[in-house]
Amino acid sequence: MNHTAIFPGSFDPITLGHVQIIKESLKLFNTVIIGIGINDNKKYMFNLDERIALIQSVFKSNKHIIIKPYSQLTIKLCVETNAKYIVRGLRDIRDFNYELDIALANQVLDHDIQTIFIPTNKKYIHISSSTVKELIRFKGNLEQFVPKEVYSTLVSLNKI
Ligand code: ADP
Repeated sequence: MNHTAIFPGSFDPITLGHVQIIKESLKLFNTVIIGIGINDNKKYMFNLDERIALIQSVFKSNKHIIIKPYSQLTIKLCVETNAKYIVRGLRDIRDFNYELDIALANQVLDHDIQTIFIPTNKKYIHISSSTVKELIRFKGNLEQFVPKEVYSTLVSLNKI
């Protein structure tokens, strides 16, 4: 499809689960905008520059991927970037309940924009950014949670 989709999230930090969803999205869409949410009410482990550097370490200069920080409603970012689709990943029924609420609210706000749900690969079902942060805090093994490029960047940023 010659379309643009936004994959919004905190990416604090990007994980193997996110990367899988982005790769699947690239099979469906010509351009995927990774929308990095900036929310003053949220506490992040990684600042914006670090979150960007971690994402860039995985996708280098893939011309089908655009990294875009934003601090507004996702549908506003869609309108600004002419993206008609929002991609979200689903791990379980909790993700589904949460994501369906947001997707329906977005439908009410702008019915031109559709949310596409992509199920996780079952080997990544256990992965969340929160778990990764706990592993970083308590020096657990990150191998099965983040791509090797992210691991190396975390080392170079002196985070692990
Ligand atoms: P948010 O702060 O919006 O929850 P996240 O960075 O945690 O942002 O997640 C962004 C998106 O990635 C969400 O759609 C989430 O469901 C999806 N996601 C996170 N981890 C996984 C995973 N292991 N498998 C599939 N999708 C995932």
